[in-house]
Formats: sequence, C-alpha cells, structure tokens
Amino acid sequence: MGNLERYSRQILFEGIGETGQGKLLKSRVAVVGAGALGTVISNHLVRSGVGYIRLIDRDLVELSNLQRQTLYDEEDARLNLPKAVAAQKRLNKINSTVTVDAVIADLNLDNAEDLLTGMDVIVDGTDNFMTRFLINDVAVKHRIPWVHGAAVSSRGMFTVFKPGHTPCYRCLYPNVPQGSGETCDTVGVLSPLTDIIGSYQAVETLKLLVGYETTPNLEQIDIWDHAAMQMNISKGKNPNCPACVNRQFDYLNRSSELQEIYSTLCGRNTVQVSPRNRRTIDLKLTAERLKKSGKVAGNQFLLRFSLEENITIVVFQDARVLIHGTNDLVKAKTLYSKYIGN
Ligand SMILES: [Zn+2]
Repeated sequence: MGNLERYSRQILFEGIGETGQGKLLKSRVAVVGAGALGTVISNHLVRSGVGYIRLIDRDLVELSNLQRQTLYDEEDARLNLPKAVAAQKRLNKINSTVTVDAVIADLNLDNAEDLLTGMDVIVDGTDNFMTRFLINDVAVKHRIPWVHGAAVSSRGMFTVFKPGHTPCYRCLYPNVPQGSGETCDTVGVLSPLTDIIGSYQAVETLKLLVGYETTPNLEQIDIWDHAAMQMNISKGKNPNCPACVNRQFDYLNRSSELQEIYSTLCGRNTVQVSPRNRRTIDLKLTAERLKKSGKVAGNQFLLRFSLEENITIVVFQDARVLIHGTNDLVKAKTLYSKYIGN
C-alpha cells in the first residue's frame, strides 16, 4: 500500500477502496468560505487525501469564531490572521502531502469563474444567499457539481446539486429568500450542528469524487429537538429556471454594479467595500498614515485600524475593506473615502 498507509482505514471501507482513494488523490475541490462549515469540510477533505483544495475566504479570525471554527486558535485571532491563511497553516500540518491553496478574497462576479472552474466539486461554506446564487451560476454554466450547506441556531440543511442530473439551486429558490433574517449573528449557532452539517457535506463531496450516488434529498436537521426531514428534490426542476433551463446567468452579469461595491455582511454589523478598479494597497504606508487617526495593528496580509465609537476598519492588500461596527452604507462610504481613499 506504500504511501497509501495513512488512508488505510478509509481504503478498507468498501465505498472507497484503493480505486476510490486513487480518485481522491487526483481530485480538485473548491471550498467557498472558511468559517464553521468550511473549516469542518476542509479538515475532512484534507485528512481524506483530496489532492488539491482551494480554500477561499474574505475574513480574518476573531475570538468569537473559536467556539465553532475548528481549525483556529487564540493565537490566530491575536495575530489577526486571514482565515484562509490560518486554515492553510493548520491543514498543512495535518496532511503535508496534499495541496491547500489559500485565497484571501471575496468570491464575486469578477473572480468566481477563475476561482471555481477546473474544480471537480464546489462546496458551500458561505453564510449568504448571494454567494450561493453566484456559485450556482458558475456550477450550472460549467457543469460542476456542488454541495450546499447552511446552519443557524440548532437547525441546518444540506443538498447536492449535480448539473444535468438534479434541479439547480435556483430551481428551488428562484430569488433571494426573504425569510425571518435569522443569522448566526442574531440567533447564534451551535458548534455540534456546524460539525454535523459540514461532515455531511464532506461525505457527499467524497461520494461525488469517487463516483458514488449522492443523496437526492434536501436534508434538514434540528439537533436540539432531534428532528429530521428529507425532501426528495429529483422532480423539483423548474421548467422556466433562468439558470439551468434558459442558461441565463444573472449573478455573473455586471448589471447590479453599485451594489457589488458596497455590501453589508449578512447580520454582521459590517459593511464590505470592494473597489471596482483593481489595485493593491501598500499596507506599510497606509499604516503610517492611519496611525495619526487611531490604533493600527496587523500583519503582512491586512491592517486592522480601530477608530472611536467601536468602528474597526480592516484593510486587505487588494484594497478590499471590511468596516465593522456599522450596517449603514452611507456611513461606510464616508469612512472609506476619508481613511482609504477612492
Ligand atoms: Zn435550475
């Protein structure tokens, strides 16, 4: 078995075997989001020997993440490390024989096709509908299977979407759902839940990679009340679906340009500013300048600039900025022009 020894317990499992393991080692998977679900998913995929994992995340590690985001520790939070970098560091220690490609970026219509095509499977570790619609557009357009997952409070769900075989995400959700607006930041989330949902997503990913049949269901679980529900989606294709029937990919279309620049991070009391013109920021010079107006910390990947009134501005090298402490787009724009400049 040679260098397959580390996977011996998984190879003994008949669903995988040596043939399946060979497939996993040659596979490429993108995990979008390195939060609670993304850390669980990438942990399992790296341990299972998936050969190449691209981990995409736009955020940095904070103390409130440690309750459920299993790859991080207090030092990562203290150092303000981007999640993609902290996760990569940990995953390389777990399995140095696979490639973990850390991408510090917000998945958006400018980079989604570059980052996601060429992957065998895309796994959803995001916390928002817009990114899921974007993933769905790329997945349908380029015929890449993807595994959706979501978790909030004690309730979670997951679904496998296989272009050409199952309905797509947009068949099930024609538009961004206007729900109760519950998010992990308003009603919380239990860490055993994100472990379970992320683990299910990892299993379905392994099944896709070895060519085993995946669940045809939208599966929902409540781990507090021990309730589970399965809804077979095989017949759920919308005959008028813009994405998988008409091949009209609205989320890859540049029409909603302004909203793309300033967007609130769902339930986070945070506004993200993504400049439309590609540029890089000299973090050293910016730090020197900002020191006159507030407290500056950071590392080679980002700056963390604290102002009065609980406002913290995180500046990434690609000029993308997270403004923590407000949901007000106008205020965010003002702060952005004042401290970062257009
Ligand atoms: Zn569809």
